[in-house]
Amino acid sequence: MSTLRLVHLYPDLMSVYGDRGNVLTLVRRAQWRGIAIEVSQLTVGDTLDPREADLIFFGGGQDREQEVVSPDFLRQKGAAVCEAVAGGAALLSVCGGYQLLGQSYTTVDGQELPGAGLFEVRSVPGPKRHIGNVLIETNLDGQRRTLVGFENHSGRTYLGPGVQPLGRALVGAGNNGEDHTEGAVYEGAIGSYLHGSLLPKNPWLADRLLARALSHRRGEAVELAPLDDRLEEDAHEAVAARIRGAGGRVKSGAW
Ligand code: GLN
Repeated sequence: MSTLRLVHLYPDLMSVYGDRGNVLTLVRRAQWRGIAIEVSQLTVGDTLDPREADLIFFGGGQDREQEVVSPDFLRQKGAAVCEAVAGGAALLSVCGGYQLLGQSYTTVDGQELPGAGLFEVRSVPGPKRHIGNVLIETNLDGQRRTLVGFENHSGRTYLGPGVQPLGRALVGAGNNGEDHTEGAVYEGAIGSYLHGSLLPKNPWLADRLLARALSHRRGEAVELAPLDDRLEEDAHEAVAARIRGAGGRVKSGAW
């Protein structure tokens, strides 16, 4: 059985608020099922071979790190990421990584960093920093589910016409604090503002990424064996209850 290849982009520069935990979760959930998985950590100066990536993770960072990463990312890795996703690879990007995968990100100092254009979104600085716990409702694959996480960003992301958000922010700002959208989805790629780490307490999302990555590796649709997720589900419910109970205004309405 072939080994699943996970590429972790800029772990030394883009890994704030527990983002590295997403990689640990993906690795563990693969191993618990007996799936061999190998992690390549790529940073400034490294080359990304799009054929060698089944799953890509790109975490968050502050403007300073994004300014360092941006020119390197655009030199080769950005196009390689787009090629890998076009070929069926899975991807998760969080906050700063999500912003750099859009069309552009403008820093608080007004510097416009061009993005890889994987997501048709633009991010601009806002006057207020959005910090706090977030509860979102998603409707991926026709299933209504919730995600919990933590956001800390001043960038505001606006989706282009027809771009599918990851979900609707019930509590928290999400993409921009105005239209209640959170994150973006394009093919097997997901962008989100949710740190936390995101995946340990949202195990279904980890498995959605893993299933896609494994299907890419094996060249056929793969269904993952279920795991005993009682602890993870309890963690999810505890955080969701805390967010709802902490005076977080739960928004309602259609989306
Ligand atoms: N620098 C970006 C912002 O503040 C991203 C921050 C982050 O990744 N947490 O919007």
